[in-house]
Amino acid sequence: MRRIIYCSRATEDISPDELVELLKLSRRNNEAAGLSGMLLYSSMSFLQVLDGESAPLESTYARILADSRHCDLRLLSDTEVAKPLFPAWTMGFDHMDDDDLDQEFEAFTPAVTYPLVNPNLITNAGVAQTLLTLYAKNAAG
Ligand code: FAD
Repeated sequence: MRRIIYCSRATEDISPDELVELLKLSRRNNEAAGLSGMLLYSSMSFLQVLDGESAPLESTYARILADSRHCDLRLLSDTEVAKPLFPAWTMGFDHMDDDDLDQEFEAFTPAVTYPLVNPNLITNAGVAQTLLTLYAKNAAG
């Protein structure tokens, strides 16, 4: 199994409705492709982890790379892993500035207790990996 972690910057501030649409589409696609993961959105920055088999992961990431809703994608990590970080989530989601979405999605977790996720703060893959691992533990417990 392979894991990629990337961060990016939203080209425009994305409305809650647009985020819901993006999540629905991602979850439908990821379920079909056998992928799981987590998307964090804060202050117009995305941080996403995606786990799955190499071929579906690559084709999904290629679509994500081409998406005009974000830019400045930085691949922070691309590694072989033994198991997924978020096995139950076709795409978990957290938006630090908005609490309306929690009624829409069971994987939503209020983010106030987690550190701010912003590409400017994430200087290397190790930090992102640690952040997401902590997030997975907190979300599970
Ligand atoms: P399409 O049939 O191409 O499009 C489906 C719908 O999406 C259409 O209604 C279309 O209007 C809308 N849409 C597509 N592109 C845009 C755009 N640039 N701006 C506005 N609306 C648009 N996809 C995944 O499959 N899995 C993921 O985990 C995933 N994570 C993402 C994370 C981020 C931060 C972003 C920005 C996008 C992510 N996407 C993800 C979406 C991905 O970039 C593609 O848009 C999507 O995979 C296309 O799927 P499709 O070919 O099935 O849909």
